[in-house]
Amino acid sequence: MTSKNFTPVIGLEVHVELSTNSKMFCKCPADHFAKEANSQVCPTCLGLPGALPYANSQAIDFTIKYGLALGCNVSNFSKFDRKHYFYPDLPKGYQVSQYDLPFCTEGEFKLQDGKVIKIRRIHLEEDTGKLQHTTINGEKVSLVDFNRSGVPLVELVTEPDFDNSTEVVEFLQEIQKIVRYLGISTADMEKGSMRLEANISVTSKKGKLPDYKVELKNINSFRFLKKAIDSEVERQASLLEKGEKIVQETRGFDERSGKTVSQRTKEEAHDYRYFPEPDIPPIKITPEEISKLKKSLPELPKAKRERFVKEYGIPASYADLLTISIERSDYFEEAAKLSKKHNVGIKAIADLMVNKNLDKEYKEASELVLKVYELTKKEYSDDSSVEESVKKVLSENQDAVEKYKSGKGQVVGFLIGQVQKVLKGKGDPKVIQKKLIEMLENN
Ligand code: ADP
Ligand code: ZN
Ligand code: MG
Repeated sequence: MTSKNFTPVIGLEVHVELSTNSKMFCKCPADHFAKEANSQVCPTCLGLPGALPYANSQAIDFTIKYGLALGCNVSNFSKFDRKHYFYPDLPKGYQVSQYDLPFCTEGEFKLQDGKVIKIRRIHLEEDTGKLQHTTINGEKVSLVDFNRSGVPLVELVTEPDFDNSTEVVEFLQEIQKIVRYLGISTADMEKGSMRLEANISVTSKKGKLPDYKVELKNINSFRFLKKAIDSEVERQASLLEKGEKIVQETRGFDERSGKTVSQRTKEEAHDYRYFPEPDIPPIKITPEEISKLKKSLPELPKAKRERFVKEYGIPASYADLLTISIERSDYFEEAAKLSKKHNVGIKAIADLMVNKNLDKEYKEASELVLKVYELTKKEYSDDSSVEESVKKVLSENQDAVEKYKSGKGQVVGFLIGQVQKVLKGKGDPKVIQKKLIEMLENN
């Protein structure tokens, strides 16, 4: 392993598409998934001359909530800028994004081991259309669908603070959960509503930022991203080991070979010719608005996990799985509430949810609680066989009965054990104890 002599330096750019009702700058629906091509477009999102954009305030609120959830500073004054480049899926020839005054800056994310990942910025922009390369009547053609054009897209940029792919995956999984808890995006990688980009370099001197980076793009699962990062780190380290230079470029991941492959080299830095978007006035956000949004934040995944361990006495690994979504954690909490009524253990409920996924089988928490009640009951012998066994044990252990009468209450434990033996372990200890004491007292 050549990479032993080098430490990876990794920074992330994460895009999520917002689940607002309408697009960023027009009234077309934002939900474009599996819709008929070009059925959700208008002059604004088609970039037709003269069309005027107006900013979607729900998208701005969502972006600020995201920032607040990650401890960012929210700007009181923000604006949109035009970022120019040419591509057929970008009808205006520029993307409306944010350049120097993003909504959120300087956030922080704590990994489980306490290490802090700094979040540089979170800004709002618009998505592009989608190209589809296909064949019609034997002819190769490229088609473009603008349903996605203008859908609000939020980009989070971290500092290059990650040392390895495990930290990256931990971060991304938690970001996905947070975004879903906030209800601002489905963050579904397969559908493209969450997109990951990792910038990677390696250094022989920890703490020193290399003067190059390779950008990994178009990877749509955490598992593949982890593999891609590991193999890219290895590739760079072995090149440096051989005294070669690393080309600054964009690479993708070939799932079959498990290796990264060059997609395009950035010879020189892109000149996007940013300038302020003149059709949208700058946005002022008052401290009152910010604190109102802050108050509206739900309990976030980390806080919920910690509370579950404390409040329900379940292991952290269970709390992780039970808080995978707000729906699941609400279900568990409802079941926990009902469990008291039915005298069913919370631990048993957690167990069956985590290990048997019974919450998938039973739509309502109340149904699950009844099921758990039945399950835990059924294993126990019925009351009459308990009574019979207790009688038998008492008649065979007169000396223990005498001891009990002389005040040695601790023999009850021994007697419960004897009854369990007769019942082959199928007795409910609580029921046995109750019956035993009843009969000892009336003896
Ligand atoms: P650019 O100007 O090319 O967009 P930035 O400095 O803005 O580059 O950083 C973009 C992303 O790349 C950020 O996520 C940042 O953390 C990451 N990054 C910057 N320098 C490096 C590096 N040397 N190695 C790995 N990642 C880096
Ligand atoms: Zn539109
Ligand atoms: Mg961007």
